[in-house]
Amino acid sequence: MNKDLKILFLYPNQHMRVTPPGGIAILSAVIKRHGYTNVKLFDATWYPLDTELDTAHEDRDKVRSRKGMFPDYKWEKEGVDLTVETENMYVAWKRMVSEWKPDVIISSIVEDTYYLWKKFMDEVTDLEFISFCGGPFVTYAPQIFEKDRCDYILRGEGDEVIPELLDLISEGKDGHHLPNVHPNPMRPAIDVNTLPSTDHTIFPDKALYRPFQGKIIKIATVETQRGCPFKCKFCNSPSNAGLYKEETDSLFFRHRTVEHQEMEIIDLIEKHDIEVLWIVTDTFLTMSTRKFDAWAEMYSKYKLPFFTQTRPELLTPHQAKTLKELGCLKLNMGVEHGDPQFRKDVIGRIYQNEKAINAFKIANDAGLSTTCNFIIGYPYETKEHCMQSVELAAHLNCNDINAFIYTPYHGTPMRDMCVEAGFIDDSLIAEMRYDNQDSYLKMPAPYMSTEDIRYMYNNFVRLFRAREKELQSTSSFVKIETTTEPIHAG
Ligand code: SF4
Repeated sequence: MNKDLKILFLYPNQHMRVTPPGGIAILSAVIKRHGYTNVKLFDATWYPLDTELDTAHEDRDKVRSRKGMFPDYKWEKEGVDLTVETENMYVAWKRMVSEWKPDVIISSIVEDTYYLWKKFMDEVTDLEFISFCGGPFVTYAPQIFEKDRCDYILRGEGDEVIPELLDLISEGKDGHHLPNVHPNPMRPAIDVNTLPSTDHTIFPDKALYRPFQGKIIKIATVETQRGCPFKCKFCNSPSNAGLYKEETDSLFFRHRTVEHQEMEIIDLIEKHDIEVLWIVTDTFLTMSTRKFDAWAEMYSKYKLPFFTQTRPELLTPHQAKTLKELGCLKLNMGVEHGDPQFRKDVIGRIYQNEKAINAFKIANDAGLSTTCNFIIGYPYETKEHCMQSVELAAHLNCNDINAFIYTPYHGTPMRDMCVEAGFIDDSLIAEMRYDNQDSYLKMPAPYMSTEDIRYMYNNFVRLFRAREKELQSTSSFVKIETTTEPIHAG
């Protein structure tokens, strides 16, 4: 078996969306452990914006900073080269492929970067290599890739199928019979505790930096679990659970052991000297108190500040106090909508508003800094519904609030709802989002029009702050400090 195969990862990322991607870091570690060490990465993040691509948009954090939603910052840190490349990214990409001559190119694609990925592939049509494509968009819309430069369309987790394919290719064999290769069925979800620690050495060192509170910090991601037990209809995490149950009779939602996480945290500290950890787990705190305490005991050894996110139903005073003591810089709790009936019927989130208000009170009492997300422009949402989100946001008393316009991604039940209602065309591929982009949904009255959604998005912060002031003047509501520092990158 020829373990000298040259393997190139293509990360067609949006310009300066600087969160380090854990998925590629895990796959790189998996294939290196399997003996394939001739591995490189082409990361589009730090190249100049492609102004000819309709879907390309400038550094989102910079746009937000100009709008006063994000503290201003400079890409400067002593002793670190954080300069943006000067070369056109397609020229750099074509040169890398033609000079290095990879045997295999593995592309990790999300729906927003599909058009960007196609443009990269168009640059190398005359070059020889075997192309693998994977990621959530490929998993839920594999048929779209049948007409693209994609020899192996990979659905679900790639941690097992990619090494198997590389072995077959290195022996000159074909791998189209393997599970997870479209159109074959998938294999059961893997045991996440058998994975190696992530390999961030594949990224340029500057990929691990991002702005936070006006400064540039060094950060890496760790997952404590894969999947999520909840069923929000705008999210593809529950679809993974359904897909794995249906096709493989296995559970997608899996916890990593504390020991397995610790191995990775030590590795990140020793190899990369990170300043902050991002626990990117879909919903942190979906664990028993006993498991949480064991995690906290492990984590207390490292005194490493961190961000994380959870759901309002899960936070207890004990956890909030512990997170604060362990160095949680920001806790993000998505509330997503303010009308409990709408939240239940359309979004699939079932809890009363008091639960959300109480969760933020618990966090505030523990001294945690909090962020909350709301989405605007759901299918069947009226302006009256949306004003309930404004009302709830005003009652939460959290440090920062992010508002996003709903995007109908493939693989989510809510997208199907939109197609069935005729609010979007079934052929829609959601492109990169930017701050001034209108909703994809075209809804008849009495639901929100494009203009209504744009208005509510542009004015959400102003409206809830005004309502918050009213509440302050009429009750014992005491506003906590605002830091205007969103953590959520999505
Ligand atoms: S939005 Fe969050 S809580 Fe809801 S299903 Fe997705 S990951 Fe889980």
